[in-house]
Amino acid sequence: MNQTSERNWAGNYRYAAPVAHPRTIEEVHQLVAAATQVRALGSRHSFNAIADSPGMLVALDRVDDAIVIDPTALSVGVSGGTTYALHNLASLPHISVAGAIATGTHGSGDCNGSLATAVSALEIVTGSGELQQVDRSTPDFAGMVVALGALGIVTRVTLDIQPTFEVQQFVYENLPWSAVLQHFDAVMGSAYSVSLFTNWLGKTWIRPG
Ligand SMILES: Cc1cc2nc3c(=O)[nH]c(=O)nc-3n(C[C@H](O)[C@H](O)[C@H](O)COP(=O)(O)OP(=O)(O)OC[C@H]3O[C@@H](n4cnc5c(N)ncnc54)[C@H](O)[C@@H]3O)c2cc1C
Repeated sequence: MNQTSERNWAGNYRYAAPVAHPRTIEEVHQLVAAATQVRALGSRHSFNAIADSPGMLVALDRVDDAIVIDPTALSVGVSGGTTYALHNLASLPHISVAGAIATGTHGSGDCNGSLATAVSALEIVTGSGELQQVDRSTPDFAGMVVALGALGIVTRVTLDIQPTFEVQQFVYENLPWSAVLQHFDAVMGSAYSVSLFTNWLGKTWIRPG
């Protein structure tokens, strides 16, 4: 369980707190119970100090994913540190599930809820080092899901899944800004998920690269 100082993904921020990498949930309990100030660190994709702590940071990246699929309930249980791919993705697949839901990370698509809306249950190691289990029947559950890491360390997450998913992508190049701005709602609502890419230099939207 080494503890080192680390940078965020973009390299623009160095965490003040040392980072512990426990390998078991039991070690998470022990770390939290022994610490005076502690916060969870996900896959370090936030660009600012939101995940930092005056005390210590706990990352779950070395805890076993322990993926459990329930085909009847159409749900999957994963460790908070598991990186994800589900019904509505951010622009990259290697952020952690717990870090993504804690900040309301979203993909695109007018009718798609963010990843947080697929969460049906959480296990949280609270400040006392105890394990709390909450689900959709718990009062204020939505606030517990998008909690910015303030309630403790989310060690397990249960998510809704779909039986199958077909994907097809259409890319339109050099779409003029003027056309997009004039028909913005129609463009954004024209498919399951719509993204616009620009390099801010020209007068058209560009191909994603
Ligand atoms: C290249 C890039 C592309 C991105 N694309 C998108 C995008 O398309 N859409 C979008 O909405 N955002 C996007 N983001 C932002 C990113 O999704 C968020 O910053 C997200 O919080 C990163 O998750 P993380 O696991 O790296 O969390 P961290 O940055 O490590 O931490 C963020 C917050 O989550 C908390 N947290 C992390 N793990 C846990 C845990 N186990 N228990 C409790 N709290 C925890 C931390 O305490 C902290 O408050 C992008 C970021 C990058 C660098």
